[in-house]
Amino acid sequence: MAGIYIHIPFCKQRCGYCDFYSHTNLQLKQRYVDTLCKEIELRKHYLAPNETIETLYFGGGTPSLLNTSDFEQIYNALSTHFSLHNLVEITVEVNPDDVNDLLLDTLKSISCNRLSMGIQSFFDHELTVLGRRHTAQQAIEAVNLAQQHGFSNISIDLMYALPNQTIQTWRETLKLAISMNVQHISAYHLTYEPGTLFYKQKTNKIITEKDEEESIQLYEILIQSLTEAGYNQYEISNFSLPCYESKHNSSYWKNTPYIGLGASAHSYNIASRQWNIASVITYCKQIEENKSFFEIEFLTEKEKYNDFIITSLRTSKGVDLQKLTTLFGEKSRSYFIQQCQPYVHTNMLCEKDNFVRLTQKGIFVSDSILETLIDV
Ligand code: SF4
Repeated sequence: MAGIYIHIPFCKQRCGYCDFYSHTNLQLKQRYVDTLCKEIELRKHYLAPNETIETLYFGGGTPSLLNTSDFEQIYNALSTHFSLHNLVEITVEVNPDDVNDLLLDTLKSISCNRLSMGIQSFFDHELTVLGRRHTAQQAIEAVNLAQQHGFSNISIDLMYALPNQTIQTWRETLKLAISMNVQHISAYHLTYEPGTLFYKQKTNKIITEKDEEESIQLYEILIQSLTEAGYNQYEISNFSLPCYESKHNSSYWKNTPYIGLGASAHSYNIASRQWNIASVITYCKQIEENKSFFEIEFLTEKEKYNDFIITSLRTSKGVDLQKLTTLFGEKSRSYFIQQCQPYVHTNMLCEKDNFVRLTQKGIFVSDSILETLIDV
C-alpha cells in the first residue's frame, strides 16, 4: 500500500500561527501547476512497481484555491503516470470560504470522496485573532453544502489553547462540531513556532500562551466530549467515527511509502526520505531547467528504529512489540522495554497485549518521553 501527496503551497493570506510553507502571490499558480505536472511525470517510477496506491491527498497551503481546470490538469497527469485504479480515499483540504457549488462539483468530478476543512473555531473573535479569513457562519454553511452535495466523509480541523479562548468557548466549539455530524475531527494544540507572527507577539507580550494546567484541562474536555459522542481517538490529535480513520494519514504512522509532489513536499520509500525545495519560484525554475529540486537522506537502521517508535507511539494502539522485534531484532526490543520502565511505573506508558502505548497522562509530556525512548 502507498499514498500520493500533492502540495498546493498557496494561501490568500497568512494565518498568524502557521509555519507551513506557502506563497500569497496567486499569479504564480498556473506556472506552479504546469511544473507540478512535469514533476509527476519525472517521478513516475519513485514508488516500487508492486506498490498499490490507495490514497491521494491534496494538502497545503490551500488546495481549494485551485480552479476546475487546475484540478483536472493535475488529476490527468496523475492518472497518465500512476495507477489510480485502486484508490480508496481521495482527500482535498478546503477552506470554508472557498466552498461553493462549483468547487464541490469539481471535486466530485475527480472522484474526491473526503474533505478536510480547516475550521479551527466556531467563534468569530477567535478566528480573527488566528488570522483566518472565514467566519463561524461560513464554516457551518460550508459543511452543510458539502453534505448536500453528497460528501459523507468530512473531516474538520479545530484548535485549542488559543490566546482568547475560554473553557466555555472550547466546549461550545466542540458541541457545534459534534452537532454537524462530521465523520472525523482533528484537534491541535496551538504552538508558537519561531518565525511566526504569534511567536513574535508572544515574545513581545502582546498575547499570552495558555499555561500547562489549562492546556491539559482543554485536552481532557476534548477527549471526553468526542469520546462521549462516539468518536474514537485513534491518534494523539485525531478522532473519528468507526471506520472513518484517515487512511492517508494512517499510512504515515504505519510506515508505508508515499510520494510527495510539489514545493516542500516530502517523500518516503522505506530506504530514504527526500524533500523538495521549499520555494515555489526555485522549485519551478529548477524543474524547468532540468536541474535538481530535492534533497535526499538515506536512512540508517537507527533512524528507521527511531521513526518506527515515534510514529507508532502517536497512535492509540502504540508500539507493536512483535513488529519491533521482527523489524529490528531482540536487542532493540530489550532496549526499548528497558527505556520504557520508568514511564510504565509512573503511569505515563502502559504495556498490554504486546503493545506499549502512551496513557492520557503521558500524552502531554510525550515529547520528553520520546526523547528518552529513541536510540541516539
Ligand atoms: S493555516 Fe492554512 S490557510 Fe493559514 S497560512 Fe497556514 S496553510 Fe495557509
